[in-house]
Amino acid sequence: MTEKLQFRDPALAREIAQKIRETALKDEQVKFCHVCGTHEWTITHYGLRSLLPQNVEVIAGPGCPVCIVPAAEIDEAVQLAQKGVVITCFGDVLRVPGSNMSLLEAKAAGADVRVVYSVSDAVEMAKREKDKEFVFFAVGFETTAPATAVEVLGKPPENFSFLVSHRLIPPAMELLLGVGDLNISGFIAPGHVSAIIGLKPYELFPRVYRMPTVVAGFEPIDVLMGIYMLLKQLAEGAARLENEYSRVVKWEGNPRALQMMSQAFAVTGGNWRGIGRLPNSALRLRDEFRAYEAREKFNVHVEQGKDILLGCECHLVIIGKIKPDECPMFMKACTPAKPVGACMVSSEGTCRVWATTATRSTK
Ligand code: SF4
Repeated sequence: MTEKLQFRDPALAREIAQKIRETALKDEQVKFCHVCGTHEWTITHYGLRSLLPQNVEVIAGPGCPVCIVPAAEIDEAVQLAQKGVVITCFGDVLRVPGSNMSLLEAKAAGADVRVVYSVSDAVEMAKREKDKEFVFFAVGFETTAPATAVEVLGKPPENFSFLVSHRLIPPAMELLLGVGDLNISGFIAPGHVSAIIGLKPYELFPRVYRMPTVVAGFEPIDVLMGIYMLLKQLAEGAARLENEYSRVVKWEGNPRALQMMSQAFAVTGGNWRGIGRLPNSALRLRDEFRAYEAREKFNVHVEQGKDILLGCECHLVIIGKIKPDECPMFMKACTPAKPVGACMVSSEGTCRVWATTATRSTK
């Protein structure tokens, strides 16, 4: 059996589900939170919630990097596009709503907005078209920030700059612990992000908050094992940091990627759609790379963005307070074909995952 099939083995899944049922504290309501769009996809696609006992719930936190880009930063990208700059970005950023329009709408109105598969593709375009100014709209968590850092450190051509909108996951997890009525019992920490940052940034959750935390991979067996490991900690009255995804995630993360990130970026406060401003949760270019800072280079200025659109409940979905189908617009006014809120845009958005996956279970 290949490793992939092994991690999707239904018999093994049933075995772990049985252990979960045996380990779950009988009379206690337990709520685990993950912060990863791919975890939500796995849980929803494979119907994993239906394998859990009634008193064990898994909620989705702010794990979609596109959903949490604040409207003001979409507005900045739109403003740049309207100034005649070529905006390059990943495809799922295009339809994220800004205060007045998305990048897709700016493109429809004549702006030059191009989808790229990597930041290096954008740099190559700038090298080929020297008569134009290019900006890469750098959206993403710690998973994508190293690729941006590589190009920053590689000193791209003078007609290239960055609109940096990278965010860091651990501060958002910490914020969730302060949301009183969420009552989280443990974290399933994200595999992709952890492959870069390692386990150290999560140490505070068990140490300071006595919050069991398990880094888990993305196959169904990984997620079920992560849930089982969390339940085991609760049954023992323990709070530990554990690594279910040790075949990929090392304690120290990826030192080379971390080094490049810290050479290119400084950590700063940042706004998150649906959450607000979080200290130490965003990246900005270090001062020595200011020449590549698109906001300064093109004198970008936007007013406070409009994050919450009328009737949209994305701000509650993003922090796991409600499920997508509790939003009155879900699959009515807001669909994957015509998304209203940011959570319906990206394939990693919770609403989009629920909308496009037939086996969702709404426990
Ligand atoms: S259904 Fe649409 S409007 Fe409602 S929370 Fe989800 S993305 Fe936002």
